[in-house]
Amino acid sequence: MTEQDCLFCKIVAGEVPADVIRRTDRTLAFRDINPQAPTHVLVIPVDHHPTAAALAAQDGDLLAEVVREAHQVAVAEGIEETGYRVVFNTGPGAGQTVFHVHAHVLGGRGLGWPPG
Ligand code: 5GP
Repeated sequence: MTEQDCLFCKIVAGEVPADVIRRTDRTLAFRDINPQAPTHVLVIPVDHHPTAAALAAQDGDLLAEVVREAHQVAVAEGIEETGYRVVFNTGPGAGQTVFHVHAHVLGGRGLGWPPG
């Protein structure tokens, strides 16, 4: 399932280049183009779903796989021990700009709370 004009569908299709660090049959993990921490990786489902809420409603197992992959990214990046953050910005008011669900995996520095 792809959506025309979706940036992350184009990354999945190889039409837009990305620094891919992990992939499974149903997920892709690549580095954010504008990193907010030493590790800033995006984990997405290969299929197009606009938000985490939409994916939860349609395919909870796939959402769980995205979260498992986020953990694997943290292990691979060596930030599991020090701690890391997994964020799904959901909706424009929360800062979501790409409407193909993605988990931000952030770590490698101290992370403040509450987030901005
Ligand atoms: P959002 O704001 O939707 O939660 O997150 C979208 C993320 O996608 C942002 O952190 C932004 O830097 C990243 N991004 C936008 N365009 C590209 C791109 O072309 N390549 C990569 N790798 N990341 C992108």
